[in-house]
Amino acid sequence: MFALQNEKDFICPQNTRLVTTDVSCRSDLHHTCPNDMSTLILENLTKQYADAAAIQDVSFTAPAGSFTVLLGPSGCGKSTTLRMIAGLDTPTSGQIHIGDRDVTHLPPSQRHISMVFQSYALFPHLSVRENILFGLKVRKEPAADFPRRLQRVADLLGLTALLDRKPSQLSGGQQQRVALGRAVISEAPVCLMDEPLSNLDAQLRHDMRREIRALQQSLGITMVYVTHDQTEAMSMADQVVLLRNGRIEQRDTPDGLYARPATEFAARFIGTPPMNLMDLSTQQDGLGIAGAQDLPIVAAPAEAKRLGVRPEHIRIDDNGRPAQVESVEYFGADSIVVCRMGTCSGIAVRAPGHLRANAGDALKLAWQPERQHFFAADAAVIPPSGRSGAATLSL
Ligand code: ADP
Repeated sequence: MFALQNEKDFICPQNTRLVTTDVSCRSDLHHTCPNDMSTLILENLTKQYADAAAIQDVSFTAPAGSFTVLLGPSGCGKSTTLRMIAGLDTPTSGQIHIGDRDVTHLPPSQRHISMVFQSYALFPHLSVRENILFGLKVRKEPAADFPRRLQRVADLLGLTALLDRKPSQLSGGQQQRVALGRAVISEAPVCLMDEPLSNLDAQLRHDMRREIRALQQSLGITMVYVTHDQTEAMSMADQVVLLRNGRIEQRDTPDGLYARPATEFAARFIGTPPMNLMDLSTQQDGLGIAGAQDLPIVAAPAEAKRLGVRPEHIRIDDNGRPAQVESVEYFGADSIVVCRMGTCSGIAVRAPGHLRANAGDALKLAWQPERQHFFAADAAVIPPSGRSGAATLSL
């Protein structure tokens, strides 16, 4: 039985250390953190329904005290994964470990996990105080500790002045904070959140993202957080598990996912606007942008089918490749200019300031060769080391 008594117990001295390689062996984990009792390990988790698998062969480690985001489009298996970690669903096969305990077949109450859902699920007839304490009372935890635990959580979340109010007397953000308070007061070392911010407006979401991240870090909680919003994932996570059709597409740090997407799907899922993908075709001097009669693409591997470049890495440059403007959107600090090159349309370029251009205008685009990503016919990235037949001309 693993129960934490005070805030100090949550904090792991190396709580931000991250394992980025797949973990297939339990002993690999012991160097993640000396106190790895809240390290969460999923091994080959599969959930098969009658007609299809919701998730297949999902394995990852959430190191103690780290923030893991399960990211992906609707229906990719995020909630199913989270529900199995919580014990609300049983896997068809695979194992779940928390610390040194195999919890795969334990009921939710024995996993020492707290959860925050999209709907705050506050009891409308109970006060903030009673809502926060509800779980402790149900679990018959020592009542003598309630005032101390309540005060700490209320202080942490700025709820002290609101303890006597009913949920209907709170704003959306305050209600969400109460839901967080309910999770935090349980002092569970692992916390699961399923789209907890999707009912809030944009500004509140932004504020709450920061609050949740700060809370998770200060308490050293092992967090698994579900979202379809890549901005949430990028701004909060130590590691992102990107899911697609029930399988892990890529698991990496936010930096890694942005800089080294493993597939076209990962490349397009991260970034706003997403990475441009341009078809390549064989031309006289090497691989070039399909339909464009221009210089070949520098360093393009012979097997490349598509070239990816992020909008923020393309610049308007008189020495660049010819393009035509399709549209311009102005955002204040910058403009998104959508262009066509050869037969590739919809190429987004982030230009500083207010770019004044009209549809049909000609301009030239350039980028650094190191900003290029090449993808093969199967949509997998061609890693720089694995490339062959590099062209030699550059812009
Ligand atoms: P996400 O949270 O990423 O939106 P889910 O985990 O809810 O996705 O669902 C993953 C897939 O499993 C979806 O195709 C969904 O329709 C399917 N699924 C989820 N729950 C059930 C169920 N109880 N019975 C059958 N299929 C289900």
